[in-house]
Amino acid sequence: MARRMTEDEALRAVEREIAERGGSVDLRAEGTYRLTWHSLLHCLVVRSVETRREVEREEKGGKDLSDRPRYEELYDHPVPPPADPRRSQRLELVREGSVREEECACDGGREPCRRCDGRERIPCEESVACPDCRHTLCCLVCEGTGRRRRARVPEDREADGDRPVKRVACEKCRAPRAACPHCRGGGRTTCALCGGKGSVPCPKCGGEGTAEHGDCGGAGVRTFWTEGIVERRPHRDPVRLPERRPPLPVRRRAAARGDWLDAVLGPGDRLPGGLDPVHRAAVEPRLAVRKGEVARRVEIRSLPLARIAVDNVPDRVFYAFPGRSGTEAVAVPSRRRMAGIAAAAVCATTLCAVLLVLLR
Ligand SMILES: [Zn+2]
Ligand SMILES: [Zn+2]
Ligand SMILES: [Zn+2]
Ligand SMILES: [Zn+2]
Ligand SMILES: [Zn+2]
Repeated sequence: MARRMTEDEALRAVEREIAERGGSVDLRAEGTYRLTWHSLLHCLVVRSVETRREVEREEKGGKDLSDRPRYEELYDHPVPPPADPRRSQRLELVREGSVREEECACDGGREPCRRCDGRERIPCEESVACPDCRHTLCCLVCEGTGRRRRARVPEDREADGDRPVKRVACEKCRAPRAACPHCRGGGRTTCALCGGKGSVPCPKCGGEGTAEHGDCGGAGVRTFWTEGIVERRPHRDPVRLPERRPPLPVRRRAAARGDWLDAVLGPGDRLPGGLDPVHRAAVEPRLAVRKGEVARRVEIRSLPLARIAVDNVPDRVFYAFPGRSGTEAVAVPSRRRMAGIAAAAVCATTLCAVLLVLLR
């Protein structure tokens, strides 16, 4: 439990701080200081908020749902609260008596292959254009027609160069040394894929003619059930005081050396007795039970903090808080001093500018 700090304790800590810097001041004299409270509060309320819903589910094949918890009425079904409200949680339950397996309309998990329509093979060209004479004439005399268009065999030149091809007698027009040696004037050769058969096994079904039925995943059955989904999500509600935060050096010192009141509350726990009344008033309204709340965790950190402005020390302002070994005071430059420093900086900049202009 953190110590409370009295006004007197805060003043004495400030006096000690002033004395350490060689000053001396009696704050108990009338009207020499102004004290305001700026006590620090870090509070975080984390609620686990639950929603429930039912969905109709179906899956391919038979599905083993025996390890899932069952329920009869989802919205009344008891589910233990989450161990840690800061984490999301999703539970999938099965409605009692809703699981049914249905046979699929397909043939034992298979259906005719869509590519070959169940015919096991797909058509293929029996012959293909001769690869050797694709860019030139298959027969220089009949050009593959069988009718001689020229009286004699002309000089042959490859399309892409002057390399003559050793030609053979044409099977169609019988002209000697006129035809491509590969296709012998026909212009086409037997298809290597099908070996001239005109069809090949269907590549989709591997020649079986059937394929796995997509709707049942090949199992021949489908499983239907009603699923109850219980979802829990953390909702964070932070409270911080004071709204205008004290200067960073003060916050740092207080974080490192302050004798904080630290508490973690679960559902139904009461606020700690030693909590600052201002902090209690800020936290209490945030503790109402919200719709769907199933668990909560409230973290509270609280530290008394007083701001003391001393009339005789106008360039500094003091903050006092209870430390782990007695009350501590931190001095920071006062707003008046900060304004003075800023004004001095502006003056210096202006002076530089004026000098630069004059020196040009
Ligand atoms: Zn099926
Ligand atoms: Zn020919
Ligand atoms: Zn050829
Ligand atoms: Zn073929
Ligand atoms: Zn097929």
